[in-house]
Amino acid sequence: KTAKGSLLYLDGVSVAFDGFKAINNLSLVLEPGEMRAIIGPNGAGKTTMMDIVTGKTRPDTGDVIFDGEVDLTRHDETDIAALGIGRKFQKPTVFESHTVEDNLELALDRRRGVFATLFYDQTQKDREAIDRILETTRLTARRHERAANLSHGQKQWLEIGMLLAQNPKLLLVDEPVAGMTDAETEETARLLREIAQNHSVVVVEHDMGFVRELDVKVTVLAEGSVLAEGSLDHVSNDSKVIENYLGR
Ligand code: ADP
Repeated sequence: KTAKGSLLYLDGVSVAFDGFKAINNLSLVLEPGEMRAIIGPNGAGKTTMMDIVTGKTRPDTGDVIFDGEVDLTRHDETDIAALGIGRKFQKPTVFESHTVEDNLELALDRRRGVFATLFYDQTQKDREAIDRILETTRLTARRHERAANLSHGQKQWLEIGMLLAQNPKLLLVDEPVAGMTDAETEETARLLREIAQNHSVVVVEHDMGFVRELDVKVTVLAEGSVLAEGSLDHVSNDSKVIENYLGR
């Protein structure tokens, strides 16, 4: 298997902190247009893997190739964001005192750069993009509401919307449903499936009910490498997974 034709290609990736291998010979391939769930016990290396893909951590060895040819180990975080990799951290970081719509406009401005924004009037195209994002993130009815007044789940959706405004090819989402109500969790699965029609998505998640609803290929990480891969049913029945993770 080579990087060609894949959206994200990790091969033989390792990184150690003070001699401890947080990522140990990790290989993983994401196809264009794919949504993947990453699960694994605490300390498995999920966060470190995302840090490597987004340029926050540089691997000691291994290939990290984006879009079939871009060597991500040669780029920093800012470059990598500009290349079209968006990352949503667990805690929402929306601007509480701004409206939902203003938050999305700010995210669009961020893509254009501050200087361009000074000479820029919002175009019809921007308005359409914002309308589309509001719809995808279930926030159309709340567009003029201050972000502070949104529920926790809606804030998470708004932040996903802010990432969509930057039109990433790949979206990395860290535990999106932590702290959400059951109804919000179900809605988030639907929302991400819609987003995955136009973007590749990697979701790191602990909530197995939610992973089941996503209904996508699952990669199980343990001790910094891939323990099993396949449907949730397949990996749940894998004896290595039962021993190392689900059995704990
Ligand atoms: P997960 O996200 O799956 O819970 P992490 O990627 O956060 O796992 O961590 C993997 C392992 O690497 C853990 O044992 C953690 O303590 C260690 N680790 C992660 N980042 C650092 C760091 N900056 N310095 C030292 N150890 C780290």
